[in-house]
Amino acid sequence: MDRHIVTSSRRSISIFGATGSIGTSTLDLIARAPDAYELLVLTANSDPQALAQCAIAHGARLAVIADEAHYTSLKAALAGSGVEAAAGPQALVDAASLGADWTMAAIVGCAGLEPTLAALEGGKTVALANKESLVSAGGLMMEAARASGATLLPVDSEHNAIFQCLAGGSLSQVRRIILTASGGPFRTMTLDEMARVTPQQAVRHPNWSMGAKISIDSATMMNKGLELIEAAHLFPVGIRNIEILVHPQSVIHSMVEYQDRSTLAQLGSPDMRTPIAHALAWPTRMEGPSAPLDLASIGRLDFEQPDEARFPALRLARAAGEAGGALPAVMNAANEIAVAAFLDGRIGFLDIAAIVERAVSGYSGTKPATIADVLEIDREARLSALGMVESVTV
Ligand code: NAD
Ligand code: MG
Repeated sequence: MDRHIVTSSRRSISIFGATGSIGTSTLDLIARAPDAYELLVLTANSDPQALAQCAIAHGARLAVIADEAHYTSLKAALAGSGVEAAAGPQALVDAASLGADWTMAAIVGCAGLEPTLAALEGGKTVALANKESLVSAGGLMMEAARASGATLLPVDSEHNAIFQCLAGGSLSQVRRIILTASGGPFRTMTLDEMARVTPQQAVRHPNWSMGAKISIDSATMMNKGLELIEAAHLFPVGIRNIEILVHPQSVIHSMVEYQDRSTLAQLGSPDMRTPIAHALAWPTRMEGPSAPLDLASIGRLDFEQPDEARFPALRLARAAGEAGGALPAVMNAANEIAVAAFLDGRIGFLDIAAIVERAVSGYSGTKPATIADVLEIDREARLSALGMVESVTV
């Protein structure tokens, strides 16, 4: 049978960051309805074997490895499979411009900015997990989506929840957005206890199974700080009207309070396949594989105020989000470097927020006008944060 005829009626899908936690969950959903989708592009950073394996298994047309050093291994792993291979940052951007009907942006960090932007410029549907790109370049990304007419669907569970709650009214009628936070694995620890935690303890999230970087961000609560800025771009109600509420069970994924004081919430088991399925099927719904919510066995839902003294990342992110300009990009870059250094055992847990604080408080640059400006701000902030990492002794 001519493959071309069969595939033409399918929805074309590209997944950036296909080998990660979000990428794997997305592939899991797609594999459940293979006749509905045609995989165009899958990408990964530095694991050509894993990338080749999933590209072959899912019948992708093109596999792109970000790190060019792995191009030869990728080609070898794909030999005879019919899947094309490409490598390098420009190949990622080119692949994002191929015009997939639906693109999952699930690269971790600011490294996802250019491909995500290229996908948005294509004017199709982009499911966004890569929150760091929106933190660093939110204004420019939202503008690109408006200009191309792209549909930007939030995948982050909180933002997906808010998006769903907003179906019940309009943004102009919103009084408050309540962003829920699990509080992470160290929610009840003292600062002294946190000073001694190891990367192994920090990556063990109580409710969610996620990539290493976001798991550390959840432990410092910088994840919620990044999400605050992400929400302010996606749902422009004013950052001061977005509140953070700690809710340890991660059952309510966020809430929207309207003028009339009606508060809508979206609930579900903590499984990223639920918000991904929502983004994949939108504007309709699909059968999801997550465990149904069993409130009777959960028994109770708890809430508490976030503690900015023990989790300074919350205060830093709010200040950076309110100041705008280059600060969110600087904060994000310093955080990426500090988290990587903590995971490498080079700095302690509390040094992460301390480095971010030094990076933002010493910064006096101007607002980025272009993506090139953002990338330059990101590069300089990384170098400066690396210097701060060197000066820490653990
Ligand atoms: P992960 O570490 O599991 O996977 C990251 C993916 O990006 C991998 O495929 C990796 O190969 C690729 N990648 C890493 N560095 C890269 C680089 N420099 N260039 C190109 N590709 C690179 O991460 P994850 O947990 O899947 O998270 C992905 C994004 O989704 C992050 O921005 C995260 O904040 C966001 N997110 C994740 C979850 C979750 O449950 N995992 C929930 C909400 C939002
Ligand atoms: Mg989230």
